[in-house]
Amino acid sequence: MKGCLYKPMKLIFLGPPGSGKGTQAKMIAEKFSLAHISMGDILRQEIKEATEVGKEASSYLKNGLLVPDDVVNKMAAKAVERSAEKGFVLDGYPRTKYQAEFLSKVTGIDKVIYIDVPQEEIVKRLTGRLSCRKCGAVYHVEHKPPKKAGVCDVCGGELYTRDDDKKETIVKRFEVYNSETKPLVDYYGGKIAKINGTGGLNEVLERIKTSL
Ligand SMILES: [Zn+2]
Repeated sequence: MKGCLYKPMKLIFLGPPGSGKGTQAKMIAEKFSLAHISMGDILRQEIKEATEVGKEASSYLKNGLLVPDDVVNKMAAKAVERSAEKGFVLDGYPRTKYQAEFLSKVTGIDKVIYIDVPQEEIVKRLTGRLSCRKCGAVYHVEHKPPKKAGVCDVCGGELYTRDDDKKETIVKRFEVYNSETKPLVDYYGGKIAKINGTGGLNEVLERIKTSL
C-alpha cells in the first residue's frame, strides 16, 4: 500500500525471541520514518543507569522472566505518547494480553507484524548471538560474524553473550513466550500480518514491506 509512506503508521512487531523482529523493526522504522520503540533498549538503558526500575527489571531478566506489566506499561506509555504524531514501530511490547489491553487505552494500532520462525531454527540462531556492550549492535558467530572477533564493526566496542542469550535462559524465554506472548496473535486477530521469518534479512524485509 503506497499511501503508507505518507501517513504515520502505528505498528507492533511480534515474534518469538530470536525471530529477528528487532532488526526488522528497526529497518522498517527507518524506511518509513517512524520512531523505533524498543522495549529491550529502554530497559537496558534503565539497567545501565541502575535506576529503581532498572534494578527491579534486571532481577527478573536474569532469571528469564518477564518484567512485571505495570513497570513496563508505564515506560511504554511514555514512549508511545512521545511518538504518537510521527508514528512508531513497537518492538518487544506488548508481551502479554494485559499489556495489550493497557496499550489499547493509550493508542490505536494499524497493524501487527507477526514474524513466524520454527523453534529449532531459533535455538540455532540464538546460541551464537553476540551483542555490543557499547552500542547494542547484534552479531552472530556463524551468520553475521564481526570483521574482527570480539570487536564491534560499528563502534569498536566489546562483544559479549547477553544473559538472555544463554542456553538455559533461552529455553525459559520460549516457555514464557508460548504462554504469555503467543496468545496475542489471537488477540490482534484481523490486524495480524503473518510473515515467514526464515531466510535472509532482506527477503524477510521485502515480505514485511509487501504486507504493509
Ligand atoms: Zn558497537
